[in-house]
Amino acid sequence: MHTRFLAAVVLAAASVVGSGQASAAACNGYVGLTFDDGPTTKTQSLLNALRQNGLRATMFNVGQAAAANPALVRAQVSAGMWVGNHSYTHPHLDQMARAQVDSEISRTQRAIAAAGGGTPKLFRPPYGGTNATVQSVATQYGLRQILWDVDSQDWNNASVDAIVQANGRLTNGQVILMHDGPANTLAAIPRIAQVLASRGLCAGMISPQTGRAVAPA
Ligand SMILES: [Zn+2]
Repeated sequence: MHTRFLAAVVLAAASVVGSGQASAAACNGYVGLTFDDGPTTKTQSLLNALRQNGLRATMFNVGQAAAANPALVRAQVSAGMWVGNHSYTHPHLDQMARAQVDSEISRTQRAIAAAGGGTPKLFRPPYGGTNATVQSVATQYGLRQILWDVDSQDWNNASVDAIVQANGRLTNGQVILMHDGPANTLAAIPRIAQVLASRGLCAGMISPQTGRAVAPA
């Protein structure tokens, strides 16, 4: 009798633990957090904040910054982030000739790969400036162009509150534009994690096939 009672208690406890883990891991949907213009002197702090809050993101790196700071590209990967191509010198690609666009994109692919960031599959044109030529060159390098559904306006000196609220507008599959650098963006990270969790959304990867946020592979 005593043994059977203990067994029942153990089974009940296991059941409680199991359901707790299941609910903690439940995601009603995924969103794509993106941070452009790195790596910068703020990258390590950003990575620390993201990790501490259980968030993963896509970092759209500038090629010349990746070439100058390869260790930070490796740190992005080590922290569980995905690395994308954001051109080599951050120009208005939609105002350039095809050969220049090709150079901007191809040099960045090489710089990120050489740094240890893998060969990117995602590409974001600076300023969202794109056209048929830019799209065509990106496709030539196996890159999916990713713009955004929500602009946090962190590049425009948005407040921490405004950045958190922008994240709170995301729905399943959507992508938000943020940057590696602004102090308010870094300060917003814990509250971004809270607002997403309150809505049952998890930070996911951006699918190179669909351009939508999905569960991490
Ligand atoms: Zn940019």
